[in-house]
Amino acid sequence: MARQLARTAPLAAKWRKLAEGRCAEKGERLTPARLAVYAEMLARRRAVSAYELIGLLEKRQERKIAPLTVYRHLDFLIRTGLVHRLQSTQTYLPCDHPDQAHESQFLLCSSCGNVDEVESTGLEALLSRIADERGFRPDNAVVEVKGLCGACAVEEQD
Ligand SMILES: [Zn+2]
Ligand SMILES: [Zn+2]
Repeated sequence: MARQLARTAPLAAKWRKLAEGRCAEKGERLTPARLAVYAEMLARRRAVSAYELIGLLEKRQERKIAPLTVYRHLDFLIRTGLVHRLQSTQTYLPCDHPDQAHESQFLLCSSCGNVDEVESTGLEALLSRIADERGFRPDNAVVEVKGLCGACAVEEQD
């Protein structure tokens, strides 16, 4: 166990506290293995595929890791609201404000892969009004907008 902990990416106390808080709220336990996956994602601060994540963890821990294990940990992190799953790119992104309940909206750059998590209560309200008018009950209202980020859009112009 101690060996595993030592092979966890450095994690700021703030994020560790946040993660522990989310887990406690959900009655879940933040095991060293779960924490290692979360820390690895935070160290990147960008969306990663499960495949890429497994590679990063294997490199850090210098051992083979069963993909199924990582998928299970990812499910856990999503369940606790620490990580978002991006449907359109099949990647995972650590939430930058997991302490607040929120629907998710993302701007995905198709050039550099940058993902910006934005929060618009206006958009949330609009979506829920549209659903309401149709008697539709949404259980998942993730909005993913693909395009070019500011930096890539400028580069494209040159
Ligand atoms: Zn979020
Ligand atoms: Zn970009």
